[in-house]
Amino acid sequence: MWKKINVFEDQKEHVKKYVFEKDDIAIEAVLYKYPTYQERTVLCISTMCGCPMGCRFCGTGDYFVRNLIAQEIVGQAEYILESQLEGVSAHEIEKLQIMVMSMGEPALNKNLEQAFEVLYEKYPKAALLISSSAPKVDYEWIRALSVRIPTVGLQFSIHESTDTARDALIPFKAKLDLEQIAKEGVLWHEATGRRPFFNYCAHEGNNQKEDVQRLLDLFDPRIWEATVSVICERDAHEQVRNDHQRDLAVGFSALLVQAGYNVRVFDPAGQDTIGGGCGQLWYVQDWMRNNEQYVKPSVGCGLQKVHAPMLEKKVKEKVLP
Ligand code: SF4
Repeated sequence: MWKKINVFEDQKEHVKKYVFEKDDIAIEAVLYKYPTYQERTVLCISTMCGCPMGCRFCGTGDYFVRNLIAQEIVGQAEYILESQLEGVSAHEIEKLQIMVMSMGEPALNKNLEQAFEVLYEKYPKAALLISSSAPKVDYEWIRALSVRIPTVGLQFSIHESTDTARDALIPFKAKLDLEQIAKEGVLWHEATGRRPFFNYCAHEGNNQKEDVQRLLDLFDPRIWEATVSVICERDAHEQVRNDHQRDLAVGFSALLVQAGYNVRVFDPAGQDTIGGGCGQLWYVQDWMRNNEQYVKPSVGCGLQKVHAPMLEKKVKEKVLP
């Protein structure tokens, strides 16, 4: 199916990035082992080439090429799980997670439905996680899919505690506000009996007790679980390891735990070396520069790019004057 597959490896961090290419697309998938493939394997795969959402911290938020068809979504997982696990069979893995959170907004690509049906049939024990930035769409198909397939999980990337701050970060206009996201999560919980996650990027402009209170007002900890993500640097030349960002994530997580949330901290291995973190996608950024005939600008194109220290400054200046 693919014309070319490139692999980038960070031996120390136990993470590999795969770039799959055809004539008109380049997409990325990331493979993690914790600490062996047999014990726990996590795979992040793409649902689009480029993305129309325009998130300012994301390396692919400026351009969109197209939705992937179901075979292209499945094909990333199949290739990696069938041939890249150093002799471990996918069926021997004790904990396998396949997440659609690399490139693209899954809620805008209904081909995901067919892709998840196939992945569930092939890997019935795998957790299939949808990570969405909450575009304004009818989520009924995602609820129905999650009811049919009991291994599907749902996470909304909220990242901020106010809509103003979130609008600055995610310029795509047709998206749910925080209150609407909270309602969608409750509907999903009622339909599936499982708990949705919200994903939050803590930085110095949004890590106070007031932020926790705003979240508590909308996201009931009896229903919602929390992921606090360490902010990635979006460009290769800005890959300075930033322990400060990690401290902020851990500090904010502690506040959320005090408030009653179950919290996990997400710190993607390989973000400092191979661009393994969500939204980095350095190789694809280069591919887009070299294949302009396939590429359309997204709403983010031309807006100021945001990396971690700028994100704090931007929010302080514009949202918290
Ligand atoms: S973070 Fe996700 S939703 Fe946002 S632009 Fe990047 S790929 Fe799209």
